[in-house]
Amino acid sequence: MDSTDLFDNQNIREVRRGRKKSHVWDHYFKEPLGSEHYIARCHYCNQNWSKGKPEILKPHLALYCKDVPLYIKTEYMEMLAVETTSTKHSEHAYITLPIICRSYYM
Ligand SMILES: [Zn+2]
Repeated sequence: MDSTDLFDNQNIREVRRGRKKSHVWDHYFKEPLGSEHYIARCHYCNQNWSKGKPEILKPHLALYCKDVPLYIKTEYMEMLAVETTSTKHSEHAYITLPIICRSYYM
């Protein structure tokens, strides 16, 4: 029983780590094309791009792919939403930090 619990915990940690540092390439085949170029091909709908870039591949999973599993689609939709609002988040962090420090000393 204990070992099962441990295994579950590790799984949760794996998922969280995967979310933070997501590999869009997990969902694409990389086919070498010359020295520095490669073709990206979607695992799910087989669409391909001669220059696969995360800026193209992420929106494909979030918005355009017709065969991607829903949980992956949702994950990438959330990711795109976070990326577009990340500037606001960091500004917010800078504003709130001094306030937290002050109340700590008081
Ligand atoms: Zn696709």
